[in-house]
Amino acid sequence: MKWILIIWVMLIFFLTFAHKTKSADICIDLGHGGDAPGAPTYIPGFTEDSVNLMVGHRLKDLLDWDPSHSYVFTRLIDTELTLWDRAIIANENQVCAFVSIHHNGDSS
Ligand SMILES: [Zn+2]
Repeated sequence: MKWILIIWVMLIFFLTFAHKTKSADICIDLGHGGDAPGAPTYIPGFTEDSVNLMVGHRLKDLLDWDPSHSYVFTRLIDTELTLWDRAIIANENQVCAFVSIHHNGDSS
């Protein structure tokens, strides 16, 4: 009975604190998303957020080839995140680097 109590306490401790010690090397932030499309592109129907999303998925495929680096994405779907949300994701994962992907437009 005493061991069951100890295991139960350890399980509660792990479930309470494990997510706070999770870490990743890199946080990759795909800019914009949801109702914030970002800059327009020269391709009709495409806005910066969708280009960022496509690049992010390709980058994820490349990162999956090398397991020596851990990573976390702020988003991999078309959803809107505040700057605060993005900072929370990075800080909760205790990342070493934060990379934000954008494709801003330029007429020249
Ligand atoms: Zn942008």
